[in-house]
Amino acid sequence: MKKYQHIFFDLDHTLWDFDRCSEETVHELVEKYQLHLITKKAHIDFIQSFKKINNKLWYLYHLGKITKKEIRDERFKIIFDELNIDHIHLPKNIGKEYLEICPCKPYLIEDTIEVLDYLAEKYHLHILTNGFEDVQEIKLTNSGIRDYFKCIITSESTGKTKPHKEIFDFALSHSNAELEQSIMIGDNLKTDILGAYQAGMDSIYYNPAGKKQDHTALYEIKKLLELKEIL
Ligand SMILES: [Mg+2]
Repeated sequence: MKKYQHIFFDLDHTLWDFDRCSEETVHELVEKYQLHLITKKAHIDFIQSFKKINNKLWYLYHLGKITKKEIRDERFKIIFDELNIDHIHLPKNIGKEYLEICPCKPYLIEDTIEVLDYLAEKYHLHILTNGFEDVQEIKLTNSGIRDYFKCIITSESTGKTKPHKEIFDFALSHSNAELEQSIMIGDNLKTDILGAYQAGMDSIYYNPAGKKQDHTALYEIKKLLELKEIL
């Protein structure tokens, strides 16, 4: 086995439990504005719609077809459209409030702390994320894992998103890491795993749902704890 020195972690859905943090935020906003009463829709309708629309917008963002501002400004309008709710009921600042609340949520994927404690003894750990610059530090700090990481590399600070090779090259030079001594860990085949492959970097695919798919990752794990056996 290669002697790795640097581990690059994806953040959302890999360490930070995006789904739980996001669902709780949407639930709180529906409650705050009594949207379930005004619109006769259940909380779950908003939560499921948010998840679907958000995934779609992020997919378009990764393709370079929409901007960060469009994701942030349009999310809730599209959700209201999808649920057939008149925009008259759309609270003016709901998009902004979502962004203020969600990154402060502290929920992590199961066993994150145990695994980071183990890895931090042996490796240099970094974050390599397509998430937005202004909220990554908040997420890391509020979930209590900021100090595990030396470098936080975001697509915004480099001008390129994963899977572009440039962001991986930037991450290596920024962290003084050698390609052969580095490995990427992430949950997304189209960004984390494909990107690592294109950059010539080894990778570990975190696949909690156990979906059967072809990929180029060196290892596949269902639980983060499995990293203790691999690394
Ligand atoms: Mg991810």
